[in-house]
Amino acid sequence: MIAEILSVGTELLMGQIANTDAQFLSRRLAELGIMLYRHTTVGDNPARVKEALGEALSRSDIVITTGGLGPTEDDLTKEMVAERFGLRMVLDEPSLHAIEAFMNRVGHPMAENNRKQAWFPEGATIFPNACGTAPGCVVEQDGKAVAVLPGPPHELQDMFERQLAPWLARRSGAHIESRFLRIFGIGESNVENQLRDLFHSDNPTLALYCGPGEVQARITAQAADREAALAMIEPVAEEIRDRLGDHVYGEGADNSIEQAVLSLLKARGETVSFAESCTGGLLAARLVGVPGASDALGEAHVTYCDAAKARVLGVKPETLERYTAVSEPCAREMAEGARRISGADWAVSTTGYAGPDGGADGTPVGTVFIAVAGPDGTTAEECHFRGSRAFVRTVAASWALNALRLRMEARA
Ligand code: ATP
Repeated sequence: MIAEILSVGTELLMGQIANTDAQFLSRRLAELGIMLYRHTTVGDNPARVKEALGEALSRSDIVITTGGLGPTEDDLTKEMVAERFGLRMVLDEPSLHAIEAFMNRVGHPMAENNRKQAWFPEGATIFPNACGTAPGCVVEQDGKAVAVLPGPPHELQDMFERQLAPWLARRSGAHIESRFLRIFGIGESNVENQLRDLFHSDNPTLALYCGPGEVQARITAQAADREAALAMIEPVAEEIRDRLGDHVYGEGADNSIEQAVLSLLKARGETVSFAESCTGGLLAARLVGVPGASDALGEAHVTYCDAAKARVLGVKPETLERYTAVSEPCAREMAEGARRISGADWAVSTTGYAGPDGGADGTPVGTVFIAVAGPDGTTAEECHFRGSRAFVRTVAASWALNALRLRMEARA
């Protein structure tokens, strides 16, 4: 299979950014044993994109484009692929819903022009975008293919590893396997430092992806068959687990901290309850989002004002007066109250300033107190998160779920 890369973006031609996408793709295609003959770069100009596509397709089996999938008028890569192949553009409803969900998650309103990102050349195989709004796709015709990937490097890399690399492997007959280790409570650069030497291998390869508050390590091996690839991955996965200890909470590209927590609760036959202030129900919603949550969750309480914290959870008025609601003593009493009134084995509380306004002397916006009450007592921690209101709440919920996981594991 002969491949060619077509990078789209005026900023590349103007020298404003370096073409690291082409560098990444070239390295990975070489590792996959796919021959790459040319790199071409064009600006965001429809006629030149179409012309460059035509030339590349006349020479190669697959053309991989990068960039030009954004919501604005000059993002035209998919449209030019459709024109080149004589295909209509059609709306893909699942992509539209995924884009809406992504915008909600990051706390931005869905702009009308984001809908454009859900239109594809008819018959395309669509690649969902786990890290951004623009899905990619592969369009095939008469033995030729164009793979369309987004420009932002972390989006492109994630889409390549999860979707295009397996697609290419199926075409080229080689076998590629990946394992994803899920890591929580330690920053990406810290993970990178601890695993530095493991990045030097060409096969298996190791790469890191970061999401809100967590990191994923992907180990990918290429071999003649699945078993051989998995056997190459195993020692690397073991080494990472050894080095990162209980920061590794699970495995799987779609695994999540709430899934890990629910599995632990179910395996132990235990239950949990939540007492939420700044997360406003996110903890409960995240757990309820996992099928089978009713086995472990009976009730959760959103107590936003001081009066509700006192009336529902029994937080002492003296505690609220002396330390305020955003304090460790309050978080402890919230968790203990939720555990008492629910009869659950565990209870987790959150109280903090999600911002953008608020905060107090010595307790700035982004401060969140998290407590876990359990059969062996109550623990609490003070966390500081930096970002939008939506980000602080999302990460605080993840952090609280992780705190529960660590407590359960420590009691195993
Ligand atoms: P978006 O949805 O963010 O608009 P897109 O797929 O339309 O993405 P572009 O608009 O072309 O991509 O580029 C978005 C950003 O991605 C650029 O400003 C640049 O930071 C980065 N980028 C684009 N192409 C490349 C490239 N070839 N190498 C490195 N970075 C790139």
